[in-house]
Amino acid sequence: MLSVTMDDTDKLHRATRIAQGLGRVAPPYLDVVPPIHVSTTYERGADGGYPGGRIYARADNPTYDGPEALIASLEGAAAALLFSSGQAAAAAVFQALQHGDNVLVPRNMYWGLRKWFIDFARTWGLGLDLYDNASLDDLAAKARARRPRLIWVETPANPTWDITDIAAASSIARQTGAIVAVDSTVATPLLTRPLALGANIVMHSATKYLNGHSDVVAGVLATAADDDLWQRIRYVRGSGGAVLGPVEASLLARGMRTLHLRVATACDNAMAIATRFHGHARLSHVLYPGLPDHPGHETAARQMSARYGGMLSLRLRDGEAAARAFTARLRVFKRATSLGSVESLAEHRASVEGPATTCPADLVRLSVGIEHVDDLIGDIEQALAQAY
Ligand code: PLP
Repeated sequence: MLSVTMDDTDKLHRATRIAQGLGRVAPPYLDVVPPIHVSTTYERGADGGYPGGRIYARADNPTYDGPEALIASLEGAAAALLFSSGQAAAAAVFQALQHGDNVLVPRNMYWGLRKWFIDFARTWGLGLDLYDNASLDDLAAKARARRPRLIWVETPANPTWDITDIAAASSIARQTGAIVAVDSTVATPLLTRPLALGANIVMHSATKYLNGHSDVVAGVLATAADDDLWQRIRYVRGSGGAVLGPVEASLLARGMRTLHLRVATACDNAMAIATRFHGHARLSHVLYPGLPDHPGHETAARQMSARYGGMLSLRLRDGEAAARAFTARLRVFKRATSLGSVESLAEHRASVEGPATTCPADLVRLSVGIEHVDDLIGDIEQALAQAY
């Protein structure tokens, strides 16, 4: 007999659901760690049916079942779908729209996705407008004028960590007939639950905190309702084929078992760093939603559950050359792109984003990991202390 039935798992604390992968054990051996299903195809019954309930692995894979169910449980979602990357997950939402639909996209967001949205909208025949994601008034005015089918939200948003009020954005969307999709990669399912705040779809680059070990590229969508749009998204994944390999899905499931511990430590480390360097003579800004002077702090305090994420940015008073020199001098932080892993990463963001960047040239983005915070603070201190 199973020690936890599927009926009572949602009543357990999140830490318990995460640590046990929803407490699922797999028949016939009752494996505590679910097996990796490598088969790409499944035998049909003599009557032509599918007695195992599966047809072909481009549609889905039993290895997805555990992580999809856990993410749906954490997000309070009707269903979740894994994808081969965060980009593929976001792309599926756009590909499920119709020619002629309008979309509103934040001006400040993960640049790779914003670029793809703009390029795709042009060729797919979507009308796309950018809104100022630090201003609900701008969002409301553009939503009233453009009557978008979709409002995309990223909060906290790369790389300045602007905060969008999801409940207010969802209310604007309801009044103007739009749906809201939230890239909640930085907030994780532990700090913000966009669907409970009125959003329709939540997306994560599972490459980041969900997996947490810089060894899997993956994405996920979760939905408030198993409606027509969700069925089109499911069709996009199954037919477009942006599916995750079963080994990667299994690695993701393993990474997720420590999600709550990793996120808590990364957030606490980030808060300690932000507090320590706020007002430092060499810095013009420490951008972190947990600091009371961050423009989105009040909203973040309402919609994030007592912690503010593991991402922050430093702006060097002496400009781009100082930002590059600071990054070059870090020893404990690794100079690399990406975020949300156990190791701390730093990057001079504008040079990663290229000539079309809107990122200030003096900004260094930090993804704070789970190392001892004194080593991280000491590293930043020594890199700031040296003459440029
Ligand atoms: N969303 C955010 C906030 C990201 O930081 C990234 C990647 O850096 C993505 C989406 C894209 O995810 P992936 O790299 O898994 O395709």
